[in-house]
Amino acid sequence: MSTMITEECINCGVCEPECPNEAISEGEETFVINPALCTECVGFHGKEQCAEVCPVDCCVPDPNNPEDEELLFKRAKEIHPDQADGLELGPETSRFRAS
Ligand code: SF4
Repeated sequence: MSTMITEECINCGVCEPECPNEAISEGEETFVINPALCTECVGFHGKEQCAEVCPVDCCVPDPNNPEDEELLFKRAKEIHPDQADGLELGPETSRFRAS
């Protein structure tokens, strides 16, 4: 699933610079995540970094947009063609493998 920001967001902005894909921006009511750029941090981190830093825990999996690791990793490589060879899957770089 891509990650989404719920209406509980307090617009603190802490999450925005943490996203490796620049998928987070300020929306009309709250900060928002562009699902076309969200990889749930697969390829970079073992956990979604927005969820890690959010003070009100409002970065959550979008139940209406389930996506598997293969798709998310493919997207990460497409977004970062210059780093594609360096991206990898493992406990530190995919929430699907994190313990
Ligand atoms: Fe909203 Fe959480 Fe991001 Fe702050 S860290 S802007 S509360 S989603």
